[in-house]
Amino acid sequence: MRLICAVVLVGAAIAFVSPSSQAAQQEPVQAVSEAAEPFRVIGNIYFVGGPYGSYLITTPEGHILHDTGSAEMHPLIVSNVEKLGFNVGDIRIMISSHAHWDHVEGHAAMKRVTGAQVVALGGDAVALESGQDNSAIGARNFEPVPVDRVIEDGDTVTLGGVTLRALWTGGHTQGATMWTTTVQDGGNSYSIAFRGGEIPNAGAPLVNNPRHATVVADTQRTLHRLKELDPPDVFLHNHPQDPPQVLDPALPVDPRCATCFDAEGFRRMVAGLETRFEAMLQETEGQGGR
Ligand SMILES: [Zn+2]
Repeated sequence: MRLICAVVLVGAAIAFVSPSSQAAQQEPVQAVSEAAEPFRVIGNIYFVGGPYGSYLITTPEGHILHDTGSAEMHPLIVSNVEKLGFNVGDIRIMISSHAHWDHVEGHAAMKRVTGAQVVALGGDAVALESGQDNSAIGARNFEPVPVDRVIEDGDTVTLGGVTLRALWTGGHTQGATMWTTTVQDGGNSYSIAFRGGEIPNAGAPLVNNPRHATVVADTQRTLHRLKELDPPDVFLHNHPQDPPQVLDPALPVDPRCATCFDAEGFRRMVAGLETRFEAMLQETEGQGGR
């Protein structure tokens, strides 16, 4: 992982500024002028986002865009893709980490510009098509966008020799998805995972929640799956404005190192999320369920 960090450090000239991701769920987007410069992360994967993550996966037959951020971020993503020398019109497929406004609100505008196929899993596809946040927290709604392909856990998306596989991590939202792939860089092969979402937002009702009735079971299943998973070589954060220490306090302090997760760091992150979720469940029990 030192090599990966070096790749990022050389390629990056970014200064992420924001409060925690939980606060970001509720607050207006940070000024886009404070956003990051685009950069190549590894292989054919580029960071093109700003206050919220967005990644371009390039192929000889067009590109895949992972997350479109908030509506305000749309012009920034377009200019970031072009700054890197790629054509926004070549984006063929749009996928997402999870259907919260700060990751998918820009889908509708991006689809208008590109005509790209929107791919989403289960309950997230429902949220995208309705524009209604159907996650446990019920965050703000967004412009609806047609979903061209509704996928299931384990399905793949393939374009120009690149394949991404969907791992369902429902809990944070109903169809949160960790996308995984493999890239070549410098003669080596690396397993990549794009963060989906794991546990519900703080304050979300966990029982009798009409938006996401199975949120507890889905979150427990997600945490179990992540514990069983072989940690990826590179874990790409969808809230890069949060320093990695938010997910793992043991990580080195370097706000540019959005991908500085090694296997142990990934396991610590999952363990930390499990602890947080257990505390949320205990709090719910203490209140007699809600
Ligand atoms: Zn979210």
